[in-house]
Amino acid sequence: AVRGVVPIRQGSFVYSSRFASTLALIETSVDGKLDASGANLLYAAKKLNNPITALFVGPNASAAAQELKNSFKCEDLNKIIVAKDESLKNFLPENVSPLIADLLKGDTYSHFVVTSSSMGKNILPRLAAMIDNQPICDVIEIQSPNKFVRPIYAGNAIATIESSQPKQLISVRASAFDSIEEGKMESVDIEDVPIKANDHLPIKWVSANLTTTGRPDLGSAKTIVSGGRAFKDKESFEKYLKPLADTLNAAIGATRAAVDNGLCDNSLQIGQTGKIVAPNLYFAVGISGAVQHLAGMRDSNTIVAINNDPDAPIFKNATYGLEGDALKIVPELTEKIKAA
Ligand code: FAD
Repeated sequence: AVRGVVPIRQGSFVYSSRFASTLALIETSVDGKLDASGANLLYAAKKLNNPITALFVGPNASAAAQELKNSFKCEDLNKIIVAKDESLKNFLPENVSPLIADLLKGDTYSHFVVTSSSMGKNILPRLAAMIDNQPICDVIEIQSPNKFVRPIYAGNAIATIESSQPKQLISVRASAFDSIEEGKMESVDIEDVPIKANDHLPIKWVSANLTTTGRPDLGSAKTIVSGGRAFKDKESFEKYLKPLADTLNAAIGATRAAVDNGLCDNSLQIGQTGKIVAPNLYFAVGISGAVQHLAGMRDSNTIVAINNDPDAPIFKNATYGLEGDALKIVPELTEKIKAA
């Protein structure tokens, strides 16, 4: 492990953290539903051993806040705050980061945590620049309130970071943490955060075009069936992978080569420049195992590789390897799983 020390950075904002407490920004979907990563984020926040305040933002955020309160249990969570405003819709960083910077002023919070999803990656750097703080990104383990573990060089080395900053701004990989337990939090209050009127918002949400698959979300799926360049076209990618994914109630993923060859949508890309996943079970079908792909899936519990090249690097990372033609193996495997 590489060990690094993050220095204190003095800036125009002066913070002191007499009271240790954590502010956790919980992600919601465009229509205001609680994102599954929220339960992992709160699990990670608990490792900081501070009382936690969960923050929801957006015009429909109250429903998601209520969903958290009615569906999960987290002893350390003592308050849920909701910033309801149209300008905060879809987590636009130009509008959300100033709100969080305001909340972090003063002594109330010593830590801010967010998932390292596209949303977190959008908000955290802007927030950190606004309050002149060095963020600690992609954390996979919290060893103490100021000691964090994170992968570097696309997962080829692991750094342990000890921060002496007065406030810690952290993004965590949701897939590296368990979920908080299901249950109810009857004693936790939901409060509204007053929003400062701003007539000069720098940016406005116009519209979203989302691909809906009806499958589990890649980031939180327990099983993922991923395909690579072995498939010659989109039809064959779907013909072979969909039945296996349906049988296992799995999400479908892909390599960058599969995306670049038009076999599937780029939202399915897993890897260094795609999504980072860590399911219980990962099928790598016709995937060579390039380091950039491994960077996104090597933490999966069980990896099953299907490849016709015995020297494919994926076999070195696989728990089980099936050498042969994926076009023959996948349908046979699907039938056997169905029959089991
Ligand atoms: P290939 O490497 O071409 O492998 C195809 C495999 O299928 C081969 O092993 C072959 O033996 C096997 N095969 C062929 N036919 C069959 C068959 N009938 N049955 C069984 N097996 C068969 N890649 C990512 O995936 N994610 C990223 O985020 C990513 N980011 C990148 C970032 C950068 C800066 C760069 C430079 C590259 C990145 N890449 C990424 C690309 C990466 O380097 C590889 O090119 C890519 O992962 C290869 O995809 P693949 O395994 O599908 O294709």
